[in-house]
Amino acid sequence: MNIDAILKIKGRDVISVMPEELVGTAAEIFGKKKVGSLLVMDEGHVEGIVTERDLVWALGREGSAILKAPVSKIMTTKVMFCSGSDRIDHVMKMMTNSRFRHVPVMDEGQLVGLISIGDLVQQRLAEAELEANSMRSYIATG
Ligand code: AMP
Repeated sequence: MNIDAILKIKGRDVISVMPEELVGTAAEIFGKKKVGSLLVMDEGHVEGIVTERDLVWALGREGSAILKAPVSKIMTTKVMFCSGSDRIDHVMKMMTNSRFRHVPVMDEGQLVGLISIGDLVQQRLAEAELEANSMRSYIATG
């Protein structure tokens, strides 16, 4: 099973903000859109990623004044991507080793989606359930 199979179910929408968008506005978007990460984009180019964790860390460091700063101040600029043809296991390992829970999907230089650890776990559980069911019916009919 690969990342494309998840995007087919989940959709390819990626919620993004401009680098100069305020941290406070990003915080509102997390709540309104029920997402944990926003891609920071400028003229179609990925400038960074900002997640709920960046927000919490910045609040701890600098207090509520950070809400009035641009997201570019707290975003991660070295973004790691995966591609639609990557296997789920591979991307899970990447997230675990690098300690993040969001990965944008890039194919032929085009942004085609964004995957969270929740999407991967959900897909894995569905696969495990399917496997268990086919084992049960194999035993029952065997
Ligand atoms: P997360 O666990 O996704 O909330 O992110 C933890 C940290 O990793 C934060 O500093 C994020 O900005 C950063 N991060 C999240 N996703 C990525 C990614 N795909 N590439 C690089 N850094 C990321």
